Amino acid sequence: MTIPDTTAAQPCEVCDVSTSNRCSSCAKAGVDLFFCSKEHQKLVWKAHKPHCGPGQANPFSLAPLTDDELANLRSRAHLPIGTLGGGISTTAVALAEASGHPFEYVLQHLEGSPLDSECLPAKPFLVSLVRNSRFAMLASSSLHEQPRSVDEIFTFLAGNVLARCCDVDDVPRDLTTTEWFTPLLHKLVILASLTTQVALLEGEARDILVAAKWLPVVRERTTKWVRGGMGTDDVRLRNALRHVSLEYETE
Ligand SMILES: [Zn+2]
Ligand SMILES: [Zn+2]
Repeated sequence: MTIPDTTAAQPCEVCDVSTSNRCSSCAKAGVDLFFCSKEHQKLVWKAHKPHCGPGQANPFSLAPLTDDELANLRSRAHLPIGTLGGGISTTAVALAEASGHPFEYVLQHLEGSPLDSECLPAKPFLVSLVRNSRFAMLASSSLHEQPRSVDEIFTFLAGNVLARCCDVDDVPRDLTTTEWFTPLLHKLVILASLTTQVALLEGEARDILVAAKWLPVVRERTTKWVRGGMGTDDVRLRNALRHVSLEYETE
């Protein structure tokens, strides 16, 4: 699963040890994800697998919105939300502002693959925003419903980051063309995978112990990378992300 090669060594995505072993399928797709050992690659494999290799890794494959998510969006789009930043009042307004299109137009084009974005160049971002706004509303309601799966925690984290990127005026609408979008989502899947294993005690007991050991390391490194501008030297991106949190706490 991992291939040693001549690429300059980088920190393992799990433990920070410098290594030149990469996920071989992702390397073929032009994405560098370094793992020092099979053990550390396996620890996050279940979550990484749907996004691994040619056709899935680059651009990062995001799940389409389900019928349930679309119905939920329609029912709450015009209700007030308070936590998306920028003084944005409702999900409908957030989607209109982020896309540059009226909300009704966005709604018509949200179905299907987030990467099929001809009519809606910002679609990957808008899909993440829809999912994140659902959590934002749940958090402010009395339901106390918390994300429960890798996908949900990943969405929560990605939404936190992407919602702030939206404050930067000239971030390209088609995020898949940016150099940071794909690596960001890969890193967040790895973080979400470890978070899930620790928070929900999901997986083999031994793996949970290993995940608990490395979660703070991965969270700190990923937070630092995001706050530092996600591998770019874009000062506005850095400013927008200066205080972003990648903490996820269960009740
Ligand atoms: Zn490692
Ligand atoms: Zn891979």
